Amino acid sequence: MSLTHFRIFGAVALSAAVFASGALAADPGDAPYPPFKIGEGLYYVGSADYAAYLIVTKAGLIQLDGGDAETGKQIVANIRTLGFDPSQVKILLNTHQHFDHAAGLAAIAKAAPGAKLYASAADGAVIAAGGRGDPLLKAERFYYEPVPVAVTLKDGQQVKLGGWTLTAHITGGHTAGCTTWTFPVTVAGKTRQALVHCSSTVLPGYRIGKVETWPGQTAQFEKSFATWKALPCEVFLGSHASFYGMQAKKKALDAGKADAFVDPQGCKAFYAKTEAAFRTELKKQNP
Ligand SMILES: [Zn+2]
Repeated sequence: MSLTHFRIFGAVALSAAVFASGALAADPGDAPYPPFKIGEGLYYVGSADYAAYLIVTKAGLIQLDGGDAETGKQIVANIRTLGFDPSQVKILLNTHQHFDHAAGLAAIAKAAPGAKLYASAADGAVIAAGGRGDPLLKAERFYYEPVPVAVTLKDGQQVKLGGWTLTAHITGGHTAGCTTWTFPVTVAGKTRQALVHCSSTVLPGYRIGKVETWPGQTAQFEKSFATWKALPCEVFLGSHASFYGMQAKKKALDAGKADAFVDPQGCKAFYAKTEAAFRTELKKQNP
């Protein structure tokens, strides 16, 4: 069954009622988007909202996130459009196991039989089970083609390939093993710290506070907000393009602003906004 008609994980989450009914609507999230260069060796290859990033190293390619199943096919085509060979993807990374970021990994893995998936213990187990095991999304429409995990990531673990070093930060809450990535990248001639945000969204249906969707979820969110606020974030990126206003920044880039994606203030504001939303929801559920 197509999963592409559900847009529930973006910055604009549907109401709990729509979520429960599974109402169908056209999904703008996986509309195709032309791939483009963000910085030296760093490219956007995702769809209109389901973000995905290609890193080109001397020793092969790193692909971070796969979008949903439809996006996965677009990513493979986008890598070719940029002039690279998808079979040269050596490492597959992921922000989190939800279908809109992990279902497309299978298409990339097929195009790159030598690629190894690195994932956190909690989210890797769900990806290896094709979406099964998520504490909230327990329906066929959320499941996808599994990809086996080659390397289980610990918090703070570095992933290295061809001169690049990416650091995995396990920032649970949205999912138990949600992973935020940081790495240095050259943008407009300057070395900058990039951050790919996992997600800090409290989904409709999540229980936080005294009753929890899974044990420890609230503490995970608390720890994650502390981590996020402390991490370097100059090139602000995320699992959804809408988190960081990708399309507006791309327009600015096209208009000649070479460092359009350098946005430390936007990153700070995003964390302030999503932490406030978390605290409001926590209060609402725990009067
Ligand atoms: Zn999600």
